[in-house]
Amino acid sequence: MTTQTIPPCPVCNGPISELDDGWLCTNCEFGIPRMIRQKVLDRCDIVGIIINGRSRLIPGFQMPGTTQTFDGVIVLEKNSVRLLPGESTNMKCPKCGEEIYRFTRGFRCGRIAECGFVVYDQFAGLTLSEEQMRDIIVKGNSGLIDGFISKKNGSQFSAMIVVDDGKTEKDPKKWEMGGGCLKLEFPDDKKSSTI
Ligand SMILES: [Zn+2]
Ligand SMILES: [Zn+2]
Repeated sequence: MTTQTIPPCPVCNGPISELDDGWLCTNCEFGIPRMIRQKVLDRCDIVGIIINGRSRLIPGFQMPGTTQTFDGVIVLEKNSVRLLPGESTNMKCPKCGEEIYRFTRGFRCGRIAECGFVVYDQFAGLTLSEEQMRDIIVKGNSGLIDGFISKKNGSQFSAMIVVDDGKTEKDPKKWEMGGGCLKLEFPDDKKSSTI
């Protein structure tokens, strides 16, 4: 059986040893824990992180305080690593200003537990385009989208997905669309409903 050799320490170039609870440089403070948010990392992940400075998108990290999991990217930072909830983007969260990350099902805020802002690519029977999702985050609304399908009676409707002014704090742990700060606006009347 061949095992992948662990590259030298990215900080001091010293040898890294594998322990039960993670990987530690024998020469400096650098180390990577074996388990992050209940996800057990394997040697392949560690080698990738040390060589590339970042991992692939890894599924299975646990949301704090829930049983739900999310996919993330582990990046090197100083003497250890940091878990990012997806691939970096150049966008800022409209709710809290933190960086927005791309994940398999859409975009979300880096303050995954505290803020919870998220835009899923699926909503009311439609798959949102990359541009529509980006418009929600950057411009605060998706523009008018046709062809949503009502859950109540199956009829089609048109609406805009807009970012709420954020005056009402919702519970981000509910992990709902927008972390509770997106709503629908309809063209016909001024009524809107929170999604
Ligand atoms: Zn070192
Ligand atoms: Zn945020």
